[in-house]
Amino acid sequence: MDTIVPKKRLLSGMQPTGAGKLHLGNYEGALKAWVALQDRYEMFCFVADWHALTTLAGTGQSIVADARSIALDYLSAGLDPEKCAIFLQSEVPQHAELFLLLGMLTPVSWLERVPTYKERREIVAEREGGEAGVSFGLLGYPVLQAADILVYRAHSVPVGKDQAAHLELSREIARRFNHLYQTDLFPEPQALISEDTGTLIGLDGRKMSKSYDNAIYLTDTADDINAKMKKAFTTPTRQRMSDPGVPEGCSVCQLRRLYDPEGYTVQWEECRAATRGCVQSKKETADILNAALEPLRERRKLYADDPAQLDRILAQGAEKARDTAEATLREVRRLMKLV
Ligand code: SF4
Repeated sequence: MDTIVPKKRLLSGMQPTGAGKLHLGNYEGALKAWVALQDRYEMFCFVADWHALTTLAGTGQSIVADARSIALDYLSAGLDPEKCAIFLQSEVPQHAELFLLLGMLTPVSWLERVPTYKERREIVAEREGGEAGVSFGLLGYPVLQAADILVYRAHSVPVGKDQAAHLELSREIARRFNHLYQTDLFPEPQALISEDTGTLIGLDGRKMSKSYDNAIYLTDTADDINAKMKKAFTTPTRQRMSDPGVPEGCSVCQLRRLYDPEGYTVQWEECRAATRGCVQSKKETADILNAALEPLRERRKLYADDPAQLDRILAQGAEKARDTAEATLREVRRLMKLV
């Protein structure tokens, strides 16, 4: 008789910052890999709306609409609610309870040495005019991150190559809990490094980022992309078609390479030889991007046109997440002698 081996658990999530819009960099660097993993793992995909408060608290910005929009991006990218639980973090209060309990056994010195804390602390202090603007939430952020993962006793977390170190603190917290309470309750979550697609170049030649206003969003219409592509950065020294271009440094044709891996070399050679113009390249690249994004747009429309369906998906996802998380918390409370 065949033995059914239970699937390992995987946790993934993104913050609803960036006006609730994910861009091609998010898609290529994370979402695409999540979609590929959903058949192999028992998957929990959340929108980290509480995490967004580390930078948005007190700004008056509404988070819920952005969080729902990110959930739509998950669905449009191909995450299947039948295969993976999709939910908002704030709908699962067990994340907050475990955050509090793990906070009791996490040394402050561990948190103060997290490189992203140092960077963010400086940014916030500068923005707020002093250290008084640096919240406990900013310092405790990695404990909430650990709680997000450990509450599901997730075995794996998909991360980009440069983010693997971020998981180390969650692993240390898991080890500390297991050691203090003589248990193996928490597996040490492993980084699942997604295939390195390289840094996606934005339309101004810098890294694609919402903050640089140089991104192509999954929600962009074909007209949006056509217009953005017309203004995109190319080879600055190329004033006329007879000037040879440098495709390696050109935002348009870097995108072309990613989305047309078979055909881009011809275009690159013609650019170097100055036998093709940028107008043609931009038009062709826009067409290629629009064709690649069309299935995502169609899926998004299905869910966006039916908010009740999105409500159901998020409610079902949160229910499964709460059930799984509560089973963990029951054990945690017992081990910590709270019951
Ligand atoms: S032809 Fe393409 S690669 Fe060359 S500069 Fe123009 S847009 Fe860039």
